Amino acid sequence: MHMPQRLVVLGSTGSIGHSTLDLVERNPEALVVYALTAHRNMRKLFGQCVKFKPALVVVSEPQHAIELQFNLTAAGLSTEVLCGVDALCAVAAAQECDTVVAAIVGAAGLLPTLSAATAGKKILLANKEALVMSGALFMKTAAESGAKILPVDSEHNAIFQCLQGVENSVRDVERLILTASGGPFRTRMLSSFDGVTPTEACAHPNWTMGRKISVDSATMINKGLEIIEARWLFDIDAGYIDVLIHPQSIVHSMVVFQDQSVLAQLGNPDMRTPIAHALAYPRRIDSGVKPLDLTSLSGLTFEKVSLVRYPCLALAMNVIREGGTASAILNAANEVAVEAFLENHIRFSDIPGVIEETLQLVPAVALNSIDDIIALDAQTRRISREIIKSRFA
Ligand code: NAD
Ligand code: MG
Repeated sequence: MHMPQRLVVLGSTGSIGHSTLDLVERNPEALVVYALTAHRNMRKLFGQCVKFKPALVVVSEPQHAIELQFNLTAAGLSTEVLCGVDALCAVAAAQECDTVVAAIVGAAGLLPTLSAATAGKKILLANKEALVMSGALFMKTAAESGAKILPVDSEHNAIFQCLQGVENSVRDVERLILTASGGPFRTRMLSSFDGVTPTEACAHPNWTMGRKISVDSATMINKGLEIIEARWLFDIDAGYIDVLIHPQSIVHSMVVFQDQSVLAQLGNPDMRTPIAHALAYPRRIDSGVKPLDLTSLSGLTFEKVSLVRYPCLALAMNVIREGGTASAILNAANEVAVEAFLENHIRFSDIPGVIEETLQLVPAVALNSIDDIIALDAQTRRISREIIKSRFA
């Protein structure tokens, strides 16, 4: 590995991107930025460019690219501004990059993350949607190129840590236990779910995250996506993966072994820990995270999940049983429904209905190619939008 490690941060203006750059600042001898990418937040991206002086940045809109290039040049920076999906894929595969932090939210992250996988990069995978959409193809691509995938999602990073030194996980592991906080509505009256506002849904009790994943945590479809993610990352049948609600978010996940040893990874809920772990792996670096004071914890509790409270999790579990492209359909429908909820077009309690109806209208088939997945994603979004238009306009 090149020293310092040269990073491409896909989605640098988001929550994971922000935490990653905090770690770069703390560990300047070990980490340096080669490229940053962002969708629309040009002010934040400009500030990051001034601080980290990347060789390249990529944005989505041509007009933004022109303006940002002008402002960066005026500020005396030699950063080059590129635009569009092809540019995202190119920087993710660039020779000057050692490590790609895949932190774009949603399906938009699939192609650039896959490009990094094809190029054999070390990938810090936050963008779980890439695996949900294309798990088998994605893992095959990484295996063929020798890309090293290090999970950043806290649960998967915890499991990855617990599996260190395990030579044969198929033989030795009995179950994986994903912990879930239960989100902001774990104890809210079910009858009041119709009135949930976007602000309430995004106010996660333990984690500060982007808006889409915050809503996913409130519906707990996030945990369904994470079962799929774990299934592919650890090559384990989803039937061996359990979910437990752990409201304190201190135990980030667990592995149960054949001999009934249960290993867990603990820490304060701060994404800088799993990102730091994945950046430095197999070594450790300073993360800036507050030490875990075990004596100050009131207790660590675990509960079963109610699928009545979290119907989106039930839908995700059905999709896992179905296989093929079903999870890509679920993902697209969820992204459309969450966006519609955040824009106040539908209620929080309408999200599962939109996903369910979409799943009924779009048949799942075997997964053949990435082109098929991209086309299916677009088709599914159109259908979900139609459903929303016809039911809620
Ligand atoms: P966020 O909304 O805070 O940031 C998303 C980033 O993606 C931004 O930089 C944005 O500019 C970029 N982006 C959005 N749409 C884009 C598009 N169409 N094209 C190109 N770039 C685009 O999201 P986040 O919370 O940082 O989450 C990022 C990913 O990490 C998600 O897949 C999420 O599930 C996963 N993740 C996040 C956390 C967390 O704590 N935030 C934890 C686990 C996993
Ligand atoms: Mg998670």
